[in-house]
Amino acid sequence: MRIAIAGAGAMGSKFGWHLKKAGNDVILIDTWDRNIAAIRENGVVARVKDEEIAEKMPIYSPEEIDEQHESVDLLIVFTKSMQLENMLNSLKPIISKDTYVLCLLNGLGHEDVLERFVTRDHIIMGVTMWASMMTAPGHITFANDNGNVEIQCLDPKGKDETQKIVKILTDAGLNASYSENVMYSIWRKACVNGVVNALCALLDADCKQFGHTKEADELTRNIVQEFADVAQYEGVNLDRKEVIEHVESLFDTPHYPSMHQDLVQNNRPTEIDYIDGAVWRKGLKHSVATPYCAFITRLIHAKEDILNVK
Ligand code: NAD
Repeated sequence: MRIAIAGAGAMGSKFGWHLKKAGNDVILIDTWDRNIAAIRENGVVARVKDEEIAEKMPIYSPEEIDEQHESVDLLIVFTKSMQLENMLNSLKPIISKDTYVLCLLNGLGHEDVLERFVTRDHIIMGVTMWASMMTAPGHITFANDNGNVEIQCLDPKGKDETQKIVKILTDAGLNASYSENVMYSIWRKACVNGVVNALCALLDADCKQFGHTKEADELTRNIVQEFADVAQYEGVNLDRKEVIEHVESLFDTPHYPSMHQDLVQNNRPTEIDYIDGAVWRKGLKHSVATPYCAFITRLIHAKEDILNVK
């Protein structure tokens, strides 16, 4: 299977590294010049335990993708949410009617973007609990060793082909499974991120510091309620009690969520418009009030402005 990975950051590089190591035909596409140069020179260098292991594979910028390139069987998208549409526009030459697109981005609503490029029976949505960090261009560190991937095709017609992709991912050590309700998992993860990612970034706190404030319970309950209220209109019945318990389980760990890393540590734009912001937007569409999500989204954007994030 010919695989392209669009977005060779922390996660795209990780998935590329595993899939190439397992013997697949993999190409990477990325927008960051220094990252492209580093991967061209040394491959994707992954720190595994105390060892650095490089895996070489071709990498291109989106501008280099043209009709000379063969179309791919599987395109895995791992851009940040706000980069997805531009990336897909550039990749039209390698997307054919037979190309499956697997989306493992965090956040909500990506399927609406994907539908502009491929049919629903070729859109595979998913969530992953693997985690990875970039330590330098071309260099990644695996942030856990017990992740998984859960995927489902939006149309049952694509189930058999998606099962084959489950096997390819699992054979590459990525522990994948076919889900019968992936939208639930996507909403659940977005809801958890909508609480801890956004609030830790705003408060410049880790999960444990936030979780031990007097306000944590009330804030968590209200945000989860808004996600659940809107999710219902999108055909997803979030189990509020279970999600709240899951969020509270994170309050034991002094971990800085990725939005804190992006905004506070690296002054990079956040995915807030696809998390709390998406619930605010969808709430407006369905006439559901989401004052917490709206306020949090505006505050994150204000903080992006203050920090002069580009
Ligand atoms: P990332 O920021 O590492 O990479 C995304 C893109 O940004 C890549 O094209 C990368 O080259 C570019 N980039 C990274 N650092 C840059 C810099 N300093 N300057 C310019 N460009 C830079 O993103 P990611 O962590 O791989 O996340 C991709 C998607 O997967 C997101 O939707 C994220 O929420 C989701 N996700 C991430 C993790 C994780 O552990 N990192 C886990 C699960 C899901």
